[in-house]
Amino acid sequence: MTAIAFIGLGNMGAPMAENLVKAGHRVLAFDLVPFLRDAAKERGISVASSSVEAVQGADIVVTMLPAGRHVIEVWSAALPAARPGALFIDCSTIDVESARKAHVMAGERALPSLDAPVSGGTGGAKAATLTFMAGGEEAAFARAKPILEAMGKKIVHCGTAGAGQAAKICNNMILGVSMIAVGEAFVLAEKLGLSHQALFDVASTSSGQCWSLTTYCPVPGPVPSSPANSGYKPGFAANLMLKDLKLAQEAAQASGASTPLGALAAQLYGLYAAWGEGGSDFSGIIHLIRGKSEQSRD
Ligand code: NAD
Repeated sequence: MTAIAFIGLGNMGAPMAENLVKAGHRVLAFDLVPFLRDAAKERGISVASSSVEAVQGADIVVTMLPAGRHVIEVWSAALPAARPGALFIDCSTIDVESARKAHVMAGERALPSLDAPVSGGTGGAKAATLTFMAGGEEAAFARAKPILEAMGKKIVHCGTAGAGQAAKICNNMILGVSMIAVGEAFVLAEKLGLSHQALFDVASTSSGQCWSLTTYCPVPGPVPSSPANSGYKPGFAANLMLKDLKLAQEAAQASGASTPLGALAAQLYGLYAAWGEGGSDFSGIIHLIRGKSEQSRD
């Protein structure tokens, strides 16, 4: 049993903290929102009155927060209150620069740290099947792995500080771009009188094959489990895709990488969100490509 502080009990954090409790760990959690603290108590998670109180007795501190500035704010307050040797793990999706800054802040106090963002969404958080992609020292990773295994099924050490965030945004840039490409292909097929099923049958076994087509097909029919069959209910919301594409663009600019398709994808998801569709599944971007919303479609 390990004493764990868990900060950030939102859509992802609450079920992740619950899985740590189920695995037999002693969890003391905190969120700024009183309602979420009450909901956590009902799930059997002990709750502190501040993040500082939560970390004081912890061997491991996990944060699951919206953005880089929240992580820096929470770590700034929590690091001075932590036990000697406490391991800090940030599982939020944040910009690479803030992730590296957080590592430096921990290092200044001689505390080990990891950036360990996740993929798998709220379903994966509930089912403890998340994928963790971690950046940091080998020893910190080895110590974190059994804890992360209580919340996920695949734990990958990607490299040094910030490598987890880098892996996350590179993967999601592929996903955002490939979903747009698949959407465009279906819209062109419609114009050419080719059925969705015929395009799927050919492309899914040809060189156009990709996850956006075969697992998350953006038109109803060919893949019954894809969000297109349930009114584009997320899944993975377009707003979250937009967030990750923006982080990828920030990183591209900071590092001098040329990512023109990633830039265009960020713009298209920005337009889709401005349509009021940010809460829809990201595969709904096909409606923007088609030029018609789901509601106005025949
Ligand atoms: P969320 O907004 O539901 O939860 C974040 C929580 O952090 C909120 O409850 C908020 O009150 C709390 N918080 C903010 N500042 C705080 C502070 N100073 N002290 C304590 N608590 C504070 O977000 P989420 O959906 O749980 O996502 C969390 C992170 O995981 C984000 O970085 C997101 O990009 C990433 N992520 C989300 C998903 C998903 O499907 N939701 C998937 C993968 C990764």
